[in-house]
Amino acid sequence: MPSRYRAAVRKTLGLAPGSGLRLPPASPREVAFRTANCDWHTRGVSQSPDRPGPDEPCVLLKLGEIVLKGRNRQQFERILQSNIRNATRDTGVPVSLRQREGVILLRIADGEQRGEPGWTQAAGKIAERVRDVPGIARVSQALRVVKTPEAVSAAAIALTKGATGTFAIRARRRDKRFGLTSGQLSVLIGREIVEAHGLGVNLSRPDTEVFIEVDQDEVFVFTDGVAAVGGLPVGMSGRGVALMSGGIDSPVAAYRMMRRGLRCFFLHFSGMPLTGPESIYKAYALVRGLDRFQGGSRLFVVPFGKAQQALASSGADRLLIVAQRRLMLKTGEALARRLSCTALITGDSLGQVSSQTLANLTALDDATKLPILRPLIGWDKSEIMAEARRIRTLAISELPDQDCCTLLTPRRVETRARLDDLRRIEGRIDVEDLADTLARNAQEYRQENSLIRNGQCYPSPAAARYPGLR
Ligand code: ATP
Ligand code: MG
Repeated sequence: MPSRYRAAVRKTLGLAPGSGLRLPPASPREVAFRTANCDWHTRGVSQSPDRPGPDEPCVLLKLGEIVLKGRNRQQFERILQSNIRNATRDTGVPVSLRQREGVILLRIADGEQRGEPGWTQAAGKIAERVRDVPGIARVSQALRVVKTPEAVSAAAIALTKGATGTFAIRARRRDKRFGLTSGQLSVLIGREIVEAHGLGVNLSRPDTEVFIEVDQDEVFVFTDGVAAVGGLPVGMSGRGVALMSGGIDSPVAAYRMMRRGLRCFFLHFSGMPLTGPESIYKAYALVRGLDRFQGGSRLFVVPFGKAQQALASSGADRLLIVAQRRLMLKTGEALARRLSCTALITGDSLGQVSSQTLANLTALDDATKLPILRPLIGWDKSEIMAEARRIRTLAISELPDQDCCTLLTPRRVETRARLDDLRRIEGRIDVEDLADTLARNAQEYRQENSLIRNGQCYPSPAAARYPGLR
């Protein structure tokens, strides 16, 4: 055995450096494990009727915070499983799902992909899709193999083919009755890799990590994984209405809340009929992009131009921006009641623009009984932009449009709005009634109900410039 491997093995097994390390290639115990396959099966545990064939590609999902949720855990797992099923349905690959301790196993269900040349690609497609499902912390494409030393080492050798530098085995037993300790298993398979490829061992900073997870009926072998969205499964924290401008902040805010388990319904105010429809296209494209995090998204659009005019002609003047925002929130609240939502979400960030001073945010809070969730309140614009780039909404948000808020903008904006003044202005136009009417007349756009086919569509060559719109 190479001396570097010997030292690493010593470390794995917790032996003092220099202590006699006896891991002869042919110890009776090892021979037994290597030759008598049945010894690898846990006594008393029934064998799965559909044991894996050789090297079955599958996907393993590590759960995030969900594992901390104690008593409610089962309910959370059910929500996550249903979200995963919905997400994988998009790929057209039939998938079967099994919950294991802290891990979800996705296998390609019986169908044409199984055993076909496209099998691995199908697993890759699934792995790619589920990365965007909140509640999953890590996604690994693994090989599911029979519980024999030959199968495990063959898989480990195949996965490290072409690797250079050093490696480490990370073994784990979910089947605690398995006859080898994790350390022993690491040594056993590690030696095979050294013999096959001549790689060095480095347990603290390896170039390649080989994970071996022993389950009741099978063993999973994989070399890496990719970080997924993390957070909590959508639906676990309830439902909210996300106020969605065509700007950069609001999609990021909605994403952050979906990631905390909130199902978002989207509400956009366009300046129609005083502006063109471009902002609607953007909102629609943004919702389409965000839909991969929750599925089944719904966008409601309110033509807001006339209501803005009414506020302006009731003497809002310097208070117009805050008064508009209050009317948006009141409309959001009316819509939320209809959709059984219990919160509003905005992309406000403290001090970013004059309507977001502390005094003005307080005046906004007063407009609704619902809590206003502002996940970006302490974020810098540069941080928000980096996140928008990461979740792929930035390019859409940066497309030009005429935002309704830039209509009728007063020359100077009040930074310390007073509630008395706001209420007086609102009293002149019966703002609660107006909010109800706006919410009732909100037009819904679903993916299958595209703008182009919708009765209220505005066919425009501009639509072609907006990604995600068909
Ligand atoms: P964003 O904040 O999305 O980048 P913005 O900077 O143009 O857009 P702000 O003036 O910062 O918008 O508005 C603060 C928040 O108010 C937005 O994040 C959004 O939640 C809400 N909001 C503003 N305009 C609209 C709109 N036209 N439709 C829906 N919500 C809006
Ligand atoms: Mg903003």
